[in-house]
Amino acid sequence: MRVSLDSSIEHIKGIGGERAKLISQVLGIFTLEDLLYFFPYKYLDKSRVYKVRDLGSLKEVSGVQLLGKILRLEEANQGKHRRLTAVFSDDTGSVELVWFKYSSWLIDKIPVHKELYVFGKVNYFNRKFSIAHPEIEFIENRKNSPALVPVYSGSEKLLKRGINAKFFEKIFHSLQNIIPSTVEENLPLYLREKLCLVSRSTAFQEVHFPRDRVTLHNAERRLKFDEAFFFQLRNGLKKKKHERYSVGHPMPSVGNSFNYFYKHVLPFSLTEAQKRVLREIRSDMKRPIQMNRLLQGDVGSGKTMVALLTMLIAIDNGFQCVLMAPTEILAQQHYHAISSLLKLSNVRIALLTGSTKSHERRAIGEQLLEGSLSIVVGTHALLEDNVRFKRLGLAIIDEQHRFGVAQRAKLWYKNKIPPHVLVMTATPIPRTLAMSYYSDLEISVIDELPMGRKPVITVHRKDKDKISVFRFALEEIKKGRQVYFVYPLVKESKALDYKNLREGFEYISDFFSPYNVTMLHGQMKAEEKERNMAYFASGEAQIMVATTVIEVGVNVPNASVMIIESAERFGLSQLHQLRGRVGRGIEQSFCILLTSDVLSGDARKRIKTLCETHDGFLISEVDMQLRGPGDILGTQQSGVIDFKKLDLIRDQVLIKISRDAVDYILKKDPELNHPEHGMIKKYYLKYYKEQQIWGKIS
Ligand code: ADP
Ligand code: MG
Repeated sequence: MRVSLDSSIEHIKGIGGERAKLISQVLGIFTLEDLLYFFPYKYLDKSRVYKVRDLGSLKEVSGVQLLGKILRLEEANQGKHRRLTAVFSDDTGSVELVWFKYSSWLIDKIPVHKELYVFGKVNYFNRKFSIAHPEIEFIENRKNSPALVPVYSGSEKLLKRGINAKFFEKIFHSLQNIIPSTVEENLPLYLREKLCLVSRSTAFQEVHFPRDRVTLHNAERRLKFDEAFFFQLRNGLKKKKHERYSVGHPMPSVGNSFNYFYKHVLPFSLTEAQKRVLREIRSDMKRPIQMNRLLQGDVGSGKTMVALLTMLIAIDNGFQCVLMAPTEILAQQHYHAISSLLKLSNVRIALLTGSTKSHERRAIGEQLLEGSLSIVVGTHALLEDNVRFKRLGLAIIDEQHRFGVAQRAKLWYKNKIPPHVLVMTATPIPRTLAMSYYSDLEISVIDELPMGRKPVITVHRKDKDKISVFRFALEEIKKGRQVYFVYPLVKESKALDYKNLREGFEYISDFFSPYNVTMLHGQMKAEEKERNMAYFASGEAQIMVATTVIEVGVNVPNASVMIIESAERFGLSQLHQLRGRVGRGIEQSFCILLTSDVLSGDARKRIKTLCETHDGFLISEVDMQLRGPGDILGTQQSGVIDFKKLDLIRDQVLIKISRDAVDYILKKDPELNHPEHGMIKKYYLKYYKEQQIWGKIS
């Protein structure tokens, strides 16, 4: 029978029906193709032989190979527990080899005083190095075995049934002959030659049977390129389709609302970055094509003002706008800020959140429908079906990472012609990553903070120094400043965290008496939150004790001290966001990271990074190296960046190359109709064309 990629693995020599079933169940591998994509998770380098003497200084202990002799072999019998130990020695020292589970024939198979290789994970216990269940290999067998040995992730369940490393080695060996005839090329030769890419079948061969580091690297590079290329191709085609078919409201003019505001109300001059971004937005909005733009800007870079000016353009062209924020507090704050800036204009604005009373809600609904309201600011409540507009022309979503894809897409269906969309985020990510991740958004970046901002002085203090930190805060309060205390709140330890928060609140109230302390957390009713927030914003309360509900957007310029309790428990981007709550006024601000005395390596790195830099891009890059992009960008969309080999952070150069290649090809041959692009098209249609694309932005 001729084997194809779709053939069931039971037809592969050496597997058979029984084991095929088990492998499918446990590893989700059904076809030959699945098997080919079952990549080794690491490679053991058998070309390196270590000396016993050097074991103490090794970083990697899991794949250590030694060359020497077994001096003694001993069996210990303790009731049911048998074990076999051996003393293995090279000319620099000796280690112990141990077997806990073995059959008696093993004893006969292990030769004493014969030079051999042992291979395995080195443990250090009782001042002795040992290797449990080492692999043993005789020198004479070494000639045929590869230097780099792939390791596949298995499981207990499979191991018990004899599906182990040796098994996979055998299986993949039998694939060696099949690969060239089944794995089809998907990139034209001219491209491969130009970019020095090995063929696809070579790539699969080498990744499963690497000859050496170089061929392995080339194979991985090719597989990564494929992922990057087809991902970019899909984005490119989506964008082209959008350009061609999507309609949008053209907003050609800048009129009175904008001009009056710009000349007479705007309380400061815009930064160059704000101006540039605004030009980018304007040129999008002029076109009869829907705008899909992402505005990235660090905390405090002034995105709200850009949002407001953008809304004024839409209003000047006769359209209505929504501004959606992820929390009630933030929506309120936007509403108050914008209302006060627009109080001299005749632009009418309303606030719609979960706690808006139903009669008010009805009134707002009516005014939106008849068109007398120009701006509605709110939360998720805006997405409800009964919120309808006369002429919605612009939707702005603040802190977009807090919303799911489906939620955002809902805003589109409110109109026949979709509104222009501007999504804003203060989690800046590297440009290449942003372009991959937000694949069908255009991207604008505010990469400059308003003039005269003093960087927040950030320090790390241990819990034992808490009292002096509190005293420092007290001094600042006496100077008229305000202070935030933030406590962690994690799902897994919620009850305990709330307890800590409350106890912290009591303690702080006591310590700082007679100053006023207020509190904010997610379990409060909206009214209480609003009241407490207002109490702090007005300056009546000097201290705000809160959870991360204040992480996004909250703006109280007089607050100049941010004290984060158990800072080691926060993510890096989260700490950066929290720090962004201070440093908003003219005073020197401080951020104090309180941690326990002992920290893990990762926690130390997070704290150190935050103390050393204010650059949000750099911070998010470090964060992604620590946690992986999926965790930071939110799980809702992590499927989008689920690559097998490609790493969006480490492979930025390759991603850039793949994008250039896609641009080049689509420019020349937008429909991929040229014969030499046939293989690209075929592969694309099989694997990448989606049935349905969510909404219009991802
Ligand atoms: P973010 O980008 O984090 O949402 P905001 O829009 O809240 O930042 O702006 C932070 C603060 O900076 C606000 O108090 C805002 O009024 C102020 N601001 C914005 N743009 C400028 C500017 N060009 N010059 C001076 N202050 C500015
Ligand atoms: Mg903001």
